[in-house]
Formats: sequence, C-alpha cells, structure tokens
Amino acid sequence: MQIVIIGSGVAGVSFAEKYRTLSADDDDITLVTREHDGYYSRPLLSRGFTKDDIEQSIILKPFEQLRENGIDVLCGVFVTAINRVEKIIAINGSCQEKELHYDILVLAQGSSAFIPPPFRPYTELFYCLNSLADLKVLRKFRRERLNQNQQPSWAIVGGGLIGCEVASDLAVTGDNVTLFHAMDRLMERQLAPEDSALLLKVLQNSGIKVLLNQAVQEFIKEEDKVCVRTEVTAEFDGLIVACGFKPRTELAELAGLETGRGIKVNQHLQTSDESIYALGDVAELPNGKLYAFVLPIRNQAVWLAEFLTGQRQDAWTHPVFTTKAKVHGFDAVHPYNV
Ligand SMILES: Cc1cc2nc3c(=O)[nH]c(=O)nc-3n(C[C@H](O)[C@H](O)[C@H](O)COP(=O)(O)OP(=O)(O)OC[C@H]3O[C@@H](n4cnc5c(N)ncnc54)[C@H](O)[C@@H]3O)c2cc1C
Repeated sequence: MQIVIIGSGVAGVSFAEKYRTLSADDDDITLVTREHDGYYSRPLLSRGFTKDDIEQSIILKPFEQLRENGIDVLCGVFVTAINRVEKIIAINGSCQEKELHYDILVLAQGSSAFIPPPFRPYTELFYCLNSLADLKVLRKFRRERLNQNQQPSWAIVGGGLIGCEVASDLAVTGDNVTLFHAMDRLMERQLAPEDSALLLKVLQNSGIKVLLNQAVQEFIKEEDKVCVRTEVTAEFDGLIVACGFKPRTELAELAGLETGRGIKVNQHLQTSDESIYALGDVAELPNGKLYAFVLPIRNQAVWLAEFLTGQRQDAWTHPVFTTKAKVHGFDAVHPYNV
C-alpha cells in the first residue's frame, strides 16, 4: 500500500507518525512538502521576535528523524496536480518534475494568510506571519533596521488572535507598534466583551497604540516607509496584515473534489473521492466547521491513522478543547469561543 501525504504541519506529520506505528512494514509512507527546515511549531511563530534562537528552537523534528522512523520525506517540493483517475500526484521540485503513485492520498496542506480583497493590490507592501519562511523574512527586515540604530515602527492590521499576539511580541522587544482593528473590540470572535477590554488594557500598557473601528482604505509606499490610510494617514517602517486564514483548497478544486471554505470531508475525514482524505486547517467537516487548532488536528491525525489501519470504525468527533492567546501578560477570565 502506498500512502502519500501532502503537507508537513502538525496534521501531516502526526498522521504519518501514527500510521507508521500501526501499519504493516510493507506499507510505504511518503510525506511531500514544500518546507525545507523540518517540522516546526506554527504556534511559536507569534513568539518569533522575543526569542533570539527561534529559527532553531521552533523546529520540533528534522526531516531526517522522520526518515529514520520509516517515513520517506520529499521536501522543498510543491505538489501541482492530482490525477484522480490514475492515482498520481505531480510534484514540482527545484530542477525536476516528478510523479508519485498513491493508493491513499492524505491532504494536509493547511492554510495561508487570508488577504482581504481591498489589500490584494498591495502585496509588495506588507508582510504576513503564516510560516517559518515569513518569520525569517520579518526577522531579517527588523535586524537590518536595528543594525542602522533604528527601533522599527510597525502597523499591524487585524486585531484577532494572531494580530494581538504579534503586536504584543514586537512591543515586548521595544518596537513601536500600532494595531488597527476594524471592529469595536479586540478578538471579538473568541473573547467575551470584558476580556476584550482587559486585553486592550494589557496591550496599551505594553506601549501599543490600539485603534479600533478602523476601516483601512489603502497602503502607500513612501521611500523606505509604508503609509496606512484610514481617515488619517500614518507612516511606518513595516506593515503586517493579520486578517485570518484561508484553507489551501486550490489543488482539491483543480482535481474536482468538493470544496466549500475548506475541502469538504465526511465524518470519516474522507473527501468526495474515496481514496483521498483531508485533515487539519484544510478540512471542512459536515457541520461546516474547520478545526484550525493544534489539539483537534492531532486528534484527527491519530483517529485517521487508526481508522485506515482498521483499528476503529466509529466517526471522528471533535474533542473538547479551548485555546489561549499568547499575549504577554494576558489571561482571559472566561473560556474562549473556538
Ligand atoms: C502565528 C500563528 C499562531 C498560532 N497559534 C496557535 C496556538 O496558540 N494554538 C493553536 O492550537 N493553534 C495555533 N495556530 C494555528 C495552528 O498553527 C494551525 O491550526 C496548524 O498549524 C495547522 O496545521 P496543518 O498541519 O493543518 O497545516 P500547516 O501547519 O499549514 O501545514 C501545511 C503544510 O503543507 C505544506 N503545503 C501546502 N501546500 C503544499 C503543496 N501544494 N505542496 C507541498 N507542500 C504543501 C505547507 O508548506 C505546510 O508545511 C497558530 C497559527 C499561526 C499562523
């Protein structure tokens, strides 16, 4: 049996490892990923400025360790197409095209940063923090400013979980941070109003200028600065857009699988093709939900490995879980909505 997994985040790696421990030795497991650096902790990205050694300490497992445990890893390559009739994926590496046969294909491509349509003409002007590659670019930009004896000023657009975490981490390093949020309170989807108010105080006390009810209209390049235009215009060294996530459904769409916000799966994490499964940020369950947090994703991965190796037949049900914003000095009084 040839098991092929696309994606080396928590979904892909947890599934591959669990499947390896349960499956027959002659099952081949191949994990295909465009990452180079190994399996890393995505949640730790938002502590990427206060931790000096983050580029090394964020790596949870080098790919070599997965290979030693019987998982073949093709890294630094991009899957460009799925041929469902012949059960083949097309892989585009640095200098070569390759095809790989599968009996079971597991889609674990995760999500990219969601860019609201009005910001799309300005992608050259802003950064996102969605991957280790993004973090490295941001850290390099920041280091260059510091080397010129400039403490960088930042605009963060988006006062959701990631925007608040990144703003907090940059402020703790001493950078000047302004946080623009479209709504009248921070993290309004996850937090009770009194916790949003507490979060606002914590961020303000760390020196962040928080601007609520902001309709950001455009970004403008001014020499080595970037301006954010709302009712007024303010200039910054760096700009980060943190407006949510978008499941990577493009491959599935091209292959004719059913998609909605994510790749549609049934209660057994099976897509509209019986040989293809999906889990993690990219999967949309029959209740219309995406479980885009580490704990339920690990749970999906273990469940799927057990299901595919015949250890269980019941449907996947989401575990009870909660989350927490990694904002320095903030603890919500009430549980979060997830
Ligand atoms: C800054 C930040 C902070 C977060 N904090 C928390 C937190 O505190 N707690 C929590 O529970 N969750 C947190 N999350 C969410 C959590 O990290 C995600 O839900 C989780 O990482 C998703 O895992 P995944 O494996 O589904 O996808 P991903 O981690 O996105 O992995 C998908 C992988 O697939 C690869 N890939 C995609 N397409 C292709 C292709 N065509 N070919 C080859 N490779 C491909 C990608 O390069 C990537 O490596 C945070 C997310 C971010 C961005």
